[in-house]
Amino acid sequence: MLITAGPTHEPIDRVRYIANRSSGKLGVEIARAASHAGWSVTLLLGPVIVETPPGIDVVRFETCEELQSLLEDHFASCDVLVMAAAVADFRLRQQLDKKVSRCEKGLTLDLVPTPDLVARCCAHKRNDQFVVGFALESSSCLETRAREKLSRKGLDAIVANPLSTMGSPTIDADIFIKTGDSIQRFCNKTLEKNAFAHFLIQWIEETTPKRP
Ligand code: C5P
Repeated sequence: MLITAGPTHEPIDRVRYIANRSSGKLGVEIARAASHAGWSVTLLLGPVIVETPPGIDVVRFETCEELQSLLEDHFASCDVLVMAAAVADFRLRQQLDKKVSRCEKGLTLDLVPTPDLVARCCAHKRNDQFVVGFALESSSCLETRAREKLSRKGLDAIVANPLSTMGSPTIDADIFIKTGDSIQRFCNKTLEKNAFAHFLIQWIEETTPKRP
């Protein structure tokens, strides 16, 4: 099982970066639960300080570009990809030089979208691979956006969770899965993050023919 966790840091200059708020803890808990269930786990982990479980192959990344290249190396050989990384949606068209000095007239950044890494994986996905993505959104539009991302990115399943998940020990998770033309809903409850990680791994094993 291939699991990604943590944010990407997109450099502005040699000192600053753009990033999403992400501790990487949920992804690490998912890696721990998968390993505990007997899966051989590779964890692609962003620039966070978090203890990683023993017995897991951990590869670190910093930028979206680095994560993209790691996914190119590892995706083909995985049975399941759990894409929990909080990939920054924008990066600078061109990284600025050295350290930009503070000035009173302000600074305008020219941002371009990052490639959608999980959508790219899904575009090359074999029928025997299973890909789970995440959607973090405001509660008011969570379900609509999660359903839309499930289809647009070509995911097999998506974990929808509200903004309150950030920095919280718990997660109000819904899982949506695409079977044929219909979308089914699972979970829909509040769990401690480690309990959710175990639930997700067990759910993946029950939902796919994949076993560790
Ligand atoms: O589009 P949004 O960022 O909300 O989608 C979230 C899902 O897409 C997560 O699974 C995240 O890891 C993935 N993603 C990605 N590449 C991006 C942005 C998000 O793979 N550039």
